[in-house]
Amino acid sequence: MTRPRVGVGVDVHPFASGRELNLAGLHWPGETGLAGHSDGDAAAHACCDALLSAAGLGDLGGLFGTSDPRWAGASGVTLLEEAARHVRAAGFEIGNIAVQIIGNRPKLAPRRAEAEKVLSEVVSAPVSVSATTTDGLGLTGRGEGIAAIATALVFGR
Ligand code: MG
Repeated sequence: MTRPRVGVGVDVHPFASGRELNLAGLHWPGETGLAGHSDGDAAAHACCDALLSAAGLGDLGGLFGTSDPRWAGASGVTLLEEAARHVRAAGFEIGNIAVQIIGNRPKLAPRRAEAEKVLSEVVSAPVSVSATTTDGLGLTGRGEGIAAIATALVFGR
């Protein structure tokens, strides 16, 4: 009998002028990018951490190492693909991931379905994407960056 396990992941990246925005597996032309060791895709990173958390495999920093030059500039999609591979290699089946993006921009609604399609293909399991704001409060409300929170469901043996 397979045993369900949930996991959680949170990530935050500050905006950085002069960077392209990559978020939820999509490139966002004309939007301010995010700083980070990788491409700063907070949504993809939160998904990675949720998957690893669900499988009891630690976290993104432990798996890829924030100072490891191999992953410098790696896309969130690449990291997510790798995290999913690790989770399956450890004997888990991936149920789904839900990720919520917290920030003022970009406006997700017009591209929500596109983001879900890309991330679901990367993980080979359903990924739902949603977004919210914080009514002007906190770092995302002040427009300093973007946060994301994710949960994942996996099935163990
Ligand atoms: Mg990150």
